[in-house]
Amino acid sequence: MTDTNRCSAAHAEDPTPCVGPCDAVTILDGQGNAAAGCEHHGARMLASIDGARVEPGSVVGAATRVLAAADTIRPFCWYENAPRSEPGQLSAAENRARNA
Ligand SMILES: [Zn+2]
Repeated sequence: MTDTNRCSAAHAEDPTPCVGPCDAVTILDGQGNAAAGCEHHGARMLASIDGARVEPGSVVGAATRVLAAADTIRPFCWYENAPRSEPGQLSAAENRARNA
C-alpha cells in the first residue's frame, strides 16, 4: 500500500513514516532531479543515491542533520535481508572504517 501522505523522498518500498515537515530538505540526485523530503527520508535517500546532494528546505539546520545522518545509513537500508558485504552496500562511515 502506498501512503500518499509521505514526502516525495520516501522510497515506495520503504515502509517507514515521515518524521517532521515533508519539505524539510531537498535531495538532488545529480541527474537533474530534485525531491523535497522530511529529514528521515531525505537522509535515507541521500545515503542510497550515488552522487546525491542535500539542499536546505523549510527547516533550518535540517540539511546539516541529514548530511550527518546519511553518513551512517546503509544504501536502501529498508531492504533488511540485502547482502551487506560490498562497498556499495555499506554506509559511508562503514567504508571509511574498513579502509582506515
Ligand atoms: Zn518522509
